[in-house]
Amino acid sequence: MIPNKTIDALRDRGLRLTRPRRIILDVVRATDAHPTAAFVYRRVRRRLPRVSLATVYRNLQMLAAEGFLAERADAAGMRFDGNTGPHDHFTCLTCGRIYDVPAGAAGAARRRLPARTGFEVLDHRTEYYGRCGACRPPGGRSFPTRQRRSNGKPQGL
Ligand SMILES: [Zn+2]
Ligand SMILES: [Zn+2]
Repeated sequence: MIPNKTIDALRDRGLRLTRPRRIILDVVRATDAHPTAAFVYRRVRRRLPRVSLATVYRNLQMLAAEGFLAERADAAGMRFDGNTGPHDHFTCLTCGRIYDVPAGAAGAARRRLPARTGFEVLDHRTEYYGRCGACRPPGGRSFPTRQRRSNGKPQGL
């Protein structure tokens, strides 16, 4: 389901809400799997058997450029995110799934950065990597605590 607000916003920007475009937006927003264009294509094809991957890809990029979807590059290629609100990501290194997590502590660091460096920060991204609940060994610890304790210097960098 696409909220009416989105449809109005598309019209305001002079974009035609074509049927493929509407279905593509629907597919990406219906999943929290941060799908690739190929995944979206397979889903869209169930409803539009004659659609091409190129059409799906072009529309995904257009929707992302207009802010209706977020785009993110990772090792698997470009992925699309129906959640355009502020949030961070957790990537499971075992199953490869990308989870949304609430935007966290990086906001404070970002606010301090301009005073410390003179940089104008326009965007930032926080990525967490590890093992998700389904992939964690029962009772296992994902990090040995010793590794986190150091004499004031970051280790392993
Ligand atoms: Zn996992
Ligand atoms: Zn996300």
